[in-house]
Amino acid sequence: MKSQKIINPSNGEVICEVGLADKDAVDAVLEEARRAYDLGPWRNFSLAERKEILLKISQGILENAQALAQLETINTGKPIKESTFMDIPSSAQTFQYFAEHLQEYLVEEKVEIKTQIASASAALIREPLGVAALIVPWNYPLLIASWKVAQALAAGNTVILKPSSLTPLTALELAKIVERSGLPKGVFNIVVGSGQEIGKALCSDNRVDMISFTGSNSVGREIVSFAARYSKKLLMELGGKSASLVLKDADIDLAVNGSLCSIFLNQGQMCTAMSRLLVEDDIYNKFVDEFVDKVKRIKLGPGEDFETQMGPLISEAQRQKIYQYVGLTQKAGARLLCGGKAPDEPALKKGFFFEPTVFTDVHPQMSIFKEEIFGPVVTIHRFSDTEEAITLANNSSFGLAACIWTKDISVAQEISRRINSGTIWVNTYGMFFNEVPYGGFKQSGFGKELGKEGFLEYTRLKSILTDRTENSQPIVRYWYGF
Ligand code: NAD
Repeated sequence: MKSQKIINPSNGEVICEVGLADKDAVDAVLEEARRAYDLGPWRNFSLAERKEILLKISQGILENAQALAQLETINTGKPIKESTFMDIPSSAQTFQYFAEHLQEYLVEEKVEIKTQIASASAALIREPLGVAALIVPWNYPLLIASWKVAQALAAGNTVILKPSSLTPLTALELAKIVERSGLPKGVFNIVVGSGQEIGKALCSDNRVDMISFTGSNSVGREIVSFAARYSKKLLMELGGKSASLVLKDADIDLAVNGSLCSIFLNQGQMCTAMSRLLVEDDIYNKFVDEFVDKVKRIKLGPGEDFETQMGPLISEAQRQKIYQYVGLTQKAGARLLCGGKAPDEPALKKGFFFEPTVFTDVHPQMSIFKEEIFGPVVTIHRFSDTEEAITLANNSSFGLAACIWTKDISVAQEISRRINSGTIWVNTYGMFFNEVPYGGFKQSGFGKELGKEGFLEYTRLKSILTDRTENSQPIVRYWYGF
C-alpha cells in the first residue's frame, strides 16, 4: 500500500504517514456505499432516528474539540485560535443544526389542482439522491467536510468523503466519531488519496449519484466533464477574487480591522478572501496608512502558539506560487508597500511562512487583479464614486463574495443588489451561519451549501400525482372510447 507523509507546515516536520487508497480500495468503497444506500436501512430510518445520530456526531466533535483543534492546526498551520474558536465548534454546530432542522426541511408538501375537466392532488416528497461523493480542499479540512457530511447524511444519502491528501487527519478522526455514533455500516465512507487518481475514480463512476465539490476551478472543470458522462447531480464551490468596498463614510477603524481579517485570516487561504480592497478617494491615504501600519504588526508564528496571528502557508509549493505572483506584479509596475517575501526570523525558517503583503498601483488588466492567489496578498485601489467601485468589483470572472464598509445601511443595501456575488457582508467579514445559504456566482461555482436551499441540494424532489376527478371520470378512462 502506498502512503504519504503528512507535514506540519509550521516546521516542515513529518507528523505521521497515512496509507493511500488504490483503485481496488476505491472500488470496494463505492460498492459498500452503493449497497448501503440501495439495501438500506439508513434512508428508511425515521427522521427522529436520523436526528439522534447526527446529534451524537455533533457531541462527539465537541467532546474531542481540543484534540481536533490541535490536529487541525499541526496539519494546516492555521493559528490554534482559529481552529479552537472557529473551525471545530462550527463543525459540531453544523451537525447539530441539520439534526434539528431535517424534519422541518423534509416535510411533504401537498398541491391541489382543479381544472375544468379534472382534479388531482400532488404529493411533493423529498428523497435522498443516493451515493454522494464529497470532495474537499485543504484550507478548512474539518469544517467543509462537516458541512457536506452533515447535510448529505441528514438528507438520507450514503457518503464517500475524500479529504485533500495534504490534510486528511481531522477527517480521519471524524470517521472514528461517526463510527461511534451508531450510523449503519457503509453509510459513511472515507478514502484518502490523490485527486488525480482517487478523486477522478469517484467522480467518473456510475455508482455515484451526486458530487459535492469544493476546490479550485481547474479541478472543478475536470469534475464537470467526468460527471457529464452519467449526468450526475453537481454542487460546485470554486474559487474567488472578492472585492471589499470601503466608502468615504465608513468607520475607518472597523474597516481597517475587518479588512485585515478579510485577507489575512487563515493566511489568506480562503475562497472568500477579499484580495481586492477598493477605497474611496477621500479616505484613501488615511486608510492605506492605518492598514499598512497594522499589517506590519501582525505576529507570524507557528500555528500551535496561541499568540500567533498568522501561521505558515500549507506547503512550499503554495509559497512558490505566491512568490511568482509577487514577482510578476512587481515587474508589471505595481508598488509593494509591505511583505512580498518570507520572514527573516531564524525561528520561522523551517516553516512555509510568507509575510502579509500589500500592493497599490495595480491595474485591472494585471493578473494579480484577476486571478485567485490563495495567499496573504492584497491589492488596494482607489475609486471616486460608487459607480466606479461597483464596476471594479464586478470586473471579475468570479462572483463569490464582497464586503461593503459604510455607515449608511441603505446605500450598502443598494450596492449589495448590484454586485454579482453570492454573499455580501456589510460592515463585517466571514459570517457564516448554518441558516444562511452560501455559494458563488459566475466562475465561483453553482449550487448552495447550508440553509434550507443548501440542504435541499442533497435531495431530489418527487411528485406523486393522484387523479381525483369526481364520479370516476378521469380523462384516461374514456380517451380511446373503449
Ligand atoms: P483542489 O481543487 O486542488 O483540490 C480540492 C480537492 O479535489 C482535493 O481533495 C483534491 O484531492 C481533489 N482533486 C484534485 N484533482 C481531482 C480530480 N481530477 N478529480 C477529483 N478530485 C480531485 O483545491 P485545493 O488546492 O485543495 O483548495 C484550494 C481551492 O479551493 C481554491 O481555489 C479555493 O478558492 C477553493 N475553495 C473554495 C471554497 C468555496 O466555498 N467556494 C472553499 C474553500 C476552498
